[in-house]
Amino acid sequence: MNKPTVNMKLNLKHCDVLGIGFGPANIALAIALEELMPNANVKFLETRERSMWQPEMLIERSDIQNNPLRDLVTPRNPRSKYTFVNYLYEQDRLFEYLNLGIQFPLRKEYAHYIEWVANHFQHWVEYNQRVTLIEIINNENSVGFSYRVTTDSGKIYIAKALVVAPGRTPYIPPPFDKVNSDRICHLTKYLSHVKQWRQKPTCKKIAVIGSSQSAVELILDLSKKFLNAEIIGIIRNFGYRLKDTSPFTGEVYFPEFVNYYYHIDRESKDKINQDLRYTNYSSVDGDVLNELYLKIYEQKLDRDQKIFVKNNRLITDVSIRNEKIRLSIVEKNLKQVEEDEFDLVILATGFKNLGSRENEEAYPPILKHVESYLCMNDNGYLNINYDYSVDLLNEISLYAPLFLNGLCESSHGMGDAGSFSLLSLRSAIIVNGLKQKLKTSLNTSKEEVTIPFLQTVDK
Ligand SMILES: Cc1cc2nc3c(=O)[nH]c(=O)nc-3n(C[C@H](O)[C@H](O)[C@H](O)COP(=O)(O)OP(=O)(O)OC[C@H]3O[C@@H](n4cnc5c(N)ncnc54)[C@H](O)[C@@H]3O)c2cc1C
Repeated sequence: MNKPTVNMKLNLKHCDVLGIGFGPANIALAIALEELMPNANVKFLETRERSMWQPEMLIERSDIQNNPLRDLVTPRNPRSKYTFVNYLYEQDRLFEYLNLGIQFPLRKEYAHYIEWVANHFQHWVEYNQRVTLIEIINNENSVGFSYRVTTDSGKIYIAKALVVAPGRTPYIPPPFDKVNSDRICHLTKYLSHVKQWRQKPTCKKIAVIGSSQSAVELILDLSKKFLNAEIIGIIRNFGYRLKDTSPFTGEVYFPEFVNYYYHIDRESKDKINQDLRYTNYSSVDGDVLNELYLKIYEQKLDRDQKIFVKNNRLITDVSIRNEKIRLSIVEKNLKQVEEDEFDLVILATGFKNLGSRENEEAYPPILKHVESYLCMNDNGYLNINYDYSVDLLNEISLYAPLFLNGLCESSHGMGDAGSFSLLSLRSAIIVNGLKQKLKTSLNTSKEEVTIPFLQTVDK
């Protein structure tokens, strides 16, 4: 472990809690810190120039997937000034919004809401700061450890505790992981990518890989943007699947479920994931699913079909030839192989969870420089405590706690990474963890925060 040099000291900024990333997870944490731990010296670092929620997927007319009341704060503190309802009120849009009679707001409106909340925390956030290095250092004048965090602009921060919330890593499945082409992009780059190709009349055939909500939204959007192009959805399954919206399985997004899931063994977790998978993954809301089906039907009626679905297909190889993406595609039941060429390929292939499988990663890549201190369990999973803190070797976690926010689906269940539903309650759990773990060094109340929903579940 290194000590900061004298030179570096000139640039050092100290704080109690340093948040990495300022997306919904850490914005919800900022609210919880302001409301529950007001004396803490807090800082957040964010790569982007301002707060933006999934900006590359702000597709026209797309709506959100969560009940809007399960926002950044309402389930924890419905009286907070940061609720979605108060946002509408302050924008003078409450009556107009209610008059829409919609169940789910437009994604662009929710993105505005998130940005509106984020803007209240300008004093805590430094934008245009991409964290490139996290190190553990010995404290200079006392026992114990701290974090030294460096950004791409060379700024250095010393923090007693870290809350890491960079969002999940996009999953690029094989064989796409071995090629590098500006004609292939993951959905997290969609809008800016498509903008550059939209001007080019040569874009005649586009593939969308995957069977998620995003995949269907992308097919519909591409068909509006590239009027003369063929759009081909390629999926492994028989068909795009309707999302499981049963209120019974929907209880997976209850706080009690987190407690239940956290305490069951890995095998049981895997089984329950399989059971509940279609509440959030590889499935599509009825409205967009029916819109797509009707659109294809109408195109057939007009003898002008432009959207096609290749089902039961596996992509076994990809290569780039004459500015085309060439895919080897196998019909997995008939075992027939076909070769096809595309001008663009969009990967709606999801994100990586923490774990040891092919589509998982052992730890968030941002922690690679502290890898040797991370405690892993026998199944190859990071040791994550119920309060989202990570176990570190050499008792480092006792002095310098590290929390993961928005990355813990493998330990805490379905609602933890891919959903807003539990963000606000999770923030309170993390604040409680921070209070307990920093109690010797912070001049703040050491009392645990009591939150009605959590009384029975956070033990
Ligand atoms: C297209 C799409 C639509 C979705 N729609 C919904 C929905 O309707 N409802 C729902 O419940 N969930 C939805 N989700 C799930 C989504 O993951 C969460 O809603 C939410 O975005 C998670 O917030 P987060 O803060 O954990 O991650 P992110 O939103 O990914 O935010 C992470 C932030 O960290 C920053 N960052 C990353 N690395 C660094 C670094 N090295 N240094 C500094 N900053 C960094 C990023 O710039 C980003 O701002 C959607 C996801 C996608 C992809």
